[in-house]
Amino acid sequence: MTAVLSPDCAAGKCTACPGDGWDADQDAVAPCPCACHHVTHSVKTWESYSWRCKTCGEGGNDYETKEWAQDDVNQHLGIEHGIKP
Ligand SMILES: [Zn+2]
Ligand SMILES: [Zn+2]
Ligand SMILES: [Zn+2]
Repeated sequence: MTAVLSPDCAAGKCTACPGDGWDADQDAVAPCPCACHHVTHSVKTWESYSWRCKTCGEGGNDYETKEWAQDDVNQHLGIEHGIKP
């Protein structure tokens, strides 16, 4: 399955995404693969420095580097929950 982000998430408007993405192989609606649907943030924007997993409650932040911890989130989702955004 080749899941594609919803137009909202692809545009960085994660708060507007209803959670529906697209499966490019099946030409059908599929769950949006964006990590934003699996983690919450300390503030509403996806650029927040901290995150918390909606499934297991684990979280982290990257206040020191002030860089978004997307890599950390993707790694967590992949290792802990088998989700590959
Ligand atoms: Zn998103
Ligand atoms: Zn989405
Ligand atoms: Zn988790």
